[in-house]
Amino acid sequence: MALCRVCKDKGIKKEADVFLKEDKLYLCEQHFNERFEKNVLSTIKKYRMAKKDDKILVALSGGKDSMALWYVLNKLGYNAKGFHIDLGIGEYSKKSKEVVLTLANILKQEVIIIDIKKELGATIPKIANKITRKTCAICGTIKRYYFNYVAHKNRFNIIATGHNFDDEVSTLFGNILQWNFKYLSKKYPVLWEDEFFPRKIKPFALTTEEEIINYVKFNKIPYITCRCPMSENTPTNYIYKEILLELSGKFRGLRKKFYKTYLKDVFPLFNQQKEKYLNKKLTHCKICGEPSLHEICSVCQIKQKLKEN
Ligand code: SF4
Ligand code: ZN
Ligand code: ZN
Repeated sequence: MALCRVCKDKGIKKEADVFLKEDKLYLCEQHFNERFEKNVLSTIKKYRMAKKDDKILVALSGGKDSMALWYVLNKLGYNAKGFHIDLGIGEYSKKSKEVVLTLANILKQEVIIIDIKKELGATIPKIANKITRKTCAICGTIKRYYFNYVAHKNRFNIIATGHNFDDEVSTLFGNILQWNFKYLSKKYPVLWEDEFFPRKIKPFALTTEEEIINYVKFNKIPYITCRCPMSENTPTNYIYKEILLELSGKFRGLRKKFYKTYLKDVFPLFNQQKEKYLNKKLTHCKICGEPSLHEICSVCQIKQKLKEN
C-alpha cells in the first residue's frame, strides 16, 4: 500500500490503510475518518439539512448505511435518535434488531422500536400472503407510514435516512433515462417539511458506498450483511450502478460531476414546475389522522383487510 496523502503533505511517512477509487486517494485510518466526518458535516450544512438543536429521527434498517449514519450524526453532535421497525421477517428481522440494539448500547442511546406484529396483528410475510400486492410495495408503504407516524407522535422535525451517493446517482440516472419528471422535480438531498410531513434528509447523498464500507470497518460499527429474504429482484438499478461505476473508472469524477450538476442546475428547473408534475392532493386519514391520498390511508386499509380475512 502507498503512503497516506495527508500525512505525506505534513512530511510524515505513514502507510495508507485505504485507497478510495472514486477520488484516487490513499489515506491512513485517522485521515480517512476525519475526511469522512468533515464531508458529511459539509453536506448537512451545504443543503441546510439540520441544526444541532433539531430533533432528528434516524431510520435504522440494520444495514451499513443507516447504522453508519446514526453513528456519525452522534459523533458530530446532532440530536439524533434511532428508530427501527421489527418487520417480523424471520432471522433477518431478528438479526437486524440485534445489531440496532448493539449500536444503541455502544452509543449509550435509546432506540424507538415498532413491532409490526403488535401494531397490525401480523408480520410482513403474513400480511403479504393475505393482500394481493407486491411484498416490497406493502412493506415500503408500512415503513413510510411508521416513519411519519413516529416522527409526528414524538415531535421529531426531521427524518434522516442512509441513502448513499451510489443509490442516489444510479436512481437519478435511471429516472433520466425514462424522463420521469415527477422524480426529477422533487429528488434532492433535502425534502422540506410541509403541513403533512416532517423534513426528510439524506446526509450521505454525497458519500460513496465505498467510503461507508470503510467507515463501518474502521469504527467497528455493527450491521447486518444478509439480504432480506423477501427482497424482489431489482436488477435495473443494480445494472445502472455497475454502468456508472465502470464509467467513473474510465473518466475520473464523472459520477460526482453528473450528480452535482443535476443538483445545482437541473433540479431547480424541474422543481420550479413541481405543481405540474406532483398532482397529488393529500388529506388526513379519517381513522388515524396521518397523511393520505384517500379518505382512509393505506395502512388503515391494510388493517381493515386483515380484520376481514
Ligand atoms: Fe421490506 Fe422488501 Fe425491504 Fe424486505 S426487501 S425489508 S420486504 S421492502
Ligand atoms: Zn494520514
Ligand atoms: Zn389511517
